[in-house]
Amino acid sequence: MSHCIFCKIRDGHVPARLVHRDDHCLAIEDINPQAPTHLLVIPLEHIPTVNDLTENHRELVGHLHLTAAKLARQRGLADSGYRLVFNTQRDAGQTVFHIHLHLLGGRPMEWPPG
Ligand code: C5P
Repeated sequence: MSHCIFCKIRDGHVPARLVHRDDHCLAIEDINPQAPTHLLVIPLEHIPTVNDLTENHRELVGHLHLTAAKLARQRGLADSGYRLVFNTQRDAGQTVFHIHLHLLGGRPMEWPPG
C-alpha cells in the first residue's frame, strides 16, 4: 500500500470529508482549516510536487483549477474572493508530497502571506 496519505484517501483506506470526485481529481475538506472554507483539490495521480509536472499534465492542471473555481462558486465565494495555492517544497511549507490545490475563502486575507 502507498505511504502517501492522499493516495490512501483516494483509495478509501483513510477517511476524509469528500466534497467532489471525478475521473481526474477529488476534493476534500482540509482537516485543519485555515479559513471558513478550506478545501484541497487533489489529482488522483500521485505527483509529489509542482516540480514534477510535465507537458502531459497540462490538461490536468487546468482541470484542477476549473474544479476549484466550480467549488468556489458553489460556496458563494466567486464575488467575495478566494485564494488558490500550491505549496511547493520546504520554504513554502509543503507537508504532503502529493500535489494539492488549496482553496481558501470566507474571510479577508493578507498579502504577502507569511
Ligand atoms: O500544502 P501542505 O502540504 O502543507 O498542505 C497539506 C494539507 O493537508 C494541510 O493543510 C493539512 O491540514 C491537510 N491534510 C488533510 N488531511 C490529512 C492530512 C493532511 O486535510 N489526512
